[in-house]
Amino acid sequence: MGKTLSVNSGSSSLKWQLFQMPEETVIAKGIFERIGQEQSTMKVEFAGEKHSNEQKIIDVQQCVLLLLDTLIHYGLINDFREITGVGHRVVAGGELFKASVIVDEKVLGEIKELARLAPLHNLANPAGIEAFMKLLPQALPVAVFDTAFHSTMSEKAFLYPIPKKYYDEYSIRKYGAHGTSHYYVSQLAAEMLNRPIDELKLVSAHIGNGASITAIDGGTSVDTSMGLTPLAGVMMGTRSGDIDPSVIQYLIENVAHLNNAAAVLDELNNKSGILGISGLTSDMRDLNDARASGDKNAQLAYDMFIDRLKKYIAQYIGLLNGIDALIFTAGIGENDEAVRQDIIEGLSWFGMEISPELNIRGANGIISTAQSKVKVLVIPTNEELVIAREVETFRQLWFNQTFSKGIA
Ligand code: ADP
Repeated sequence: MGKTLSVNSGSSSLKWQLFQMPEETVIAKGIFERIGQEQSTMKVEFAGEKHSNEQKIIDVQQCVLLLLDTLIHYGLINDFREITGVGHRVVAGGELFKASVIVDEKVLGEIKELARLAPLHNLANPAGIEAFMKLLPQALPVAVFDTAFHSTMSEKAFLYPIPKKYYDEYSIRKYGAHGTSHYYVSQLAAEMLNRPIDELKLVSAHIGNGASITAIDGGTSVDTSMGLTPLAGVMMGTRSGDIDPSVIQYLIENVAHLNNAAAVLDELNNKSGILGISGLTSDMRDLNDARASGDKNAQLAYDMFIDRLKKYIAQYIGLLNGIDALIFTAGIGENDEAVRQDIIEGLSWFGMEISPELNIRGANGIISTAQSKVKVLVIPTNEELVIAREVETFRQLWFNQTFSKGIA
């Protein structure tokens, strides 16, 4: 019995959920945004209540203190010591972390070292972990890696076809991302289909601001669209996804304000994708409004987005040499029926058929017709719950070890 915090600390935001474990009930959740800027915002939700507040938060340390005070203030905890575990989402685990770990000084140093693979996230992650370890010394700190689920990819899937010495000497390879989400929805898909996961060929489409497609065979990730960093793969809200790398050199040499690799990478990460083509927005809801009012570039961005998703899904059906079910998850995958409809219509040759009624209802479950050869599922992702479960597993292990030592 205990309360577990599931934390996702980014470069300027901190998202959290407080769970009662092992019951897995969500006690409260919230988000701090624009940390370190003039006006930070704090949103908290619990038991049907929603509160928001604005104040300057200078850094993650102050943010964590404010979070804990807020939990006390609303009576969600009476004492900091009620929080017995904190699970942290860590974006890059490199080749070192193939599963979740209990964080100590050594692990923290290794996570910092891996920051070169995801500089935006991995520097913010340890700062958040350190702040919680300092303020909640009694709570078990656990790091859960976004890349871990993809550690089953074979060399032929994760290597880039560049001289192999760059992998051997610099670890340049595909690591993928959104692993916690792909893992969670694939497990649930097997339950919903009432079939053992080890006999299923699945393609999972996590489509949110960031988007990635994963080929899952027998419950393990065999390939995924994101790469060394989360810039690769399909087109996203602000990220280009795959492009010819020669574009980078051409931009550096020909566009005055993009005269170095960092400036181009910033353009590809933050100003491209749906935002770059529409010139309006990175948000799918706003894009849909613009399309409805006849905006041509918004429509073009949408069409490009759909085609790139279709191409990756089809590619993975080929790689798996078959598919039992396609899973849609994350903000767009869970909520945008038109995106689902357009993708499935474009893949009907593979034997996928969507039920318009089920699709519009946006049911958590199967949305394909009874005749459809391939099942299509919508499954809301829950990375926070997976993180809380990982913490709970370590807590139980720790408890059992301590208990058995006590008896011996
Ligand atoms: P991330 O976690 O990567 O920031 P999310 O998974 O929250 O992103 O997804 C955000 C995206 O989901 C946005 O493009 C948003 O417009 C889209 N989205 C959320 N709700 C809806 C909806 N009801 N209809 C269409 N798109 C939606």
